[in-house]
Amino acid sequence: MRPTTLLRRLLGIQQVRVLAAEFEEDKLVIDVAPSWSKGRCSCCGAKAPGHDRRERRWRHLDVGGVRCELRYSIRRVTCSKCGVKIEQVPWADPDSGFTHPFEELVALLSQKTDKTMVSNLLRIAWLTVGRVIERVVRRYGGDPQARLRGLRRIGIDELSYRKQHRYVTIVVDLDTHRVVWVAEGKDAAALDGFFEALGADGVAALEIASIDMSGAFKRALRQRAPHVRVVFDRFHVQGLVHDALDQIRRGMVAELREPDEKRALKGTRYALQRSPWRLDAVARRKLDELEKENQPLYRAYLMKEALAAIFDTASSESIHDDLMNWLTWVEAEGEPPLLRAAETIAEHFDGIVAYVAVGLTNAITEGLNRKARVVTSRSYGFRRLASFASMLLLCCGGITLPWPHVVPL
Ligand SMILES: [Zn+2]
Repeated sequence: MRPTTLLRRLLGIQQVRVLAAEFEEDKLVIDVAPSWSKGRCSCCGAKAPGHDRRERRWRHLDVGGVRCELRYSIRRVTCSKCGVKIEQVPWADPDSGFTHPFEELVALLSQKTDKTMVSNLLRIAWLTVGRVIERVVRRYGGDPQARLRGLRRIGIDELSYRKQHRYVTIVVDLDTHRVVWVAEGKDAAALDGFFEALGADGVAALEIASIDMSGAFKRALRQRAPHVRVVFDRFHVQGLVHDALDQIRRGMVAELREPDEKRALKGTRYALQRSPWRLDAVARRKLDELEKENQPLYRAYLMKEALAAIFDTASSESIHDDLMNWLTWVEAEGEPPLLRAAETIAEHFDGIVAYVAVGLTNAITEGLNRKARVVTSRSYGFRRLASFASMLLLCCGGITLPWPHVVPL
């Protein structure tokens, strides 16, 4: 077998000719060309006369553990439809310095593992990964409209992206457990594009929307899809009470004068955040001390835990009365931050009861939420919002990627 034939079969890319190869320091550089001779427009694929050439390189999958680059003098072509464009090559997108198989491996690993692993294993900067993922989602994510087909029950949520309080709104299909839409912002306008893409029939088919209690999504739904039954999911409700408990603790710390007492109360944060059976011995002792010495804070902790227990055991028959009793308790004995949380819960009472009544399983919303949050923290370092949105679709949008196994051509 000729060495160039051997290399062509090792590359595993269709419609490529291998012309030569050489080692350049520690990497293998392979000279390639498209199997067709006339230039093609990278925009529309039509044949187009070419003019000047410029040498370019594309990073490919390692060959036998050795870094590998493809080299080709790419033409500029004049397309009768698109104007002057770069020519199409069969191994890469026009705006990429990586081959398709390499990009797919980047995306596949990004779905499954953390960013240190991806950048160390593939020896690329994490910053670059965002753009790669955008292209892979464009190739494999399918038609964005198709993702919206058949939507009945949706969850709408906001995620904060990067540390500077930038937000995206995500729409989740609660039946397929997939993220189907991502848009910038967290106000009602963030959903405009979603409703437009969905179209009148798609909107009419919607039945249930699970949202937070901030009001923005509720307003958007009332305007664009007033027939949809709005429910408020337990995680946002519990989050409200969780924050109120933390506010109470911080308020008490601020009022203390004695540094030792301040430190001791600050040290209860961990214990207060968790359920009693999830505490280690030290944290449990702190909680015991609170019970003896700080009844208001201990009671607030019990109120938080009681609410979680109500949702854990709720049925459509029990939720109404259980929640009502909880509110009565908080209104009688709760500290001001909890009173405010209770007020919000009372205002949204029907939608919270409906969340349990419509039988949305908690595991779906919680599981997806947790996954989306992991993806978000992994996406710190992407500069572009489009990269983050693509990462969400890649990891939570049900996209299946090919494994990088070469079938010799
Ligand atoms: Zn063209």
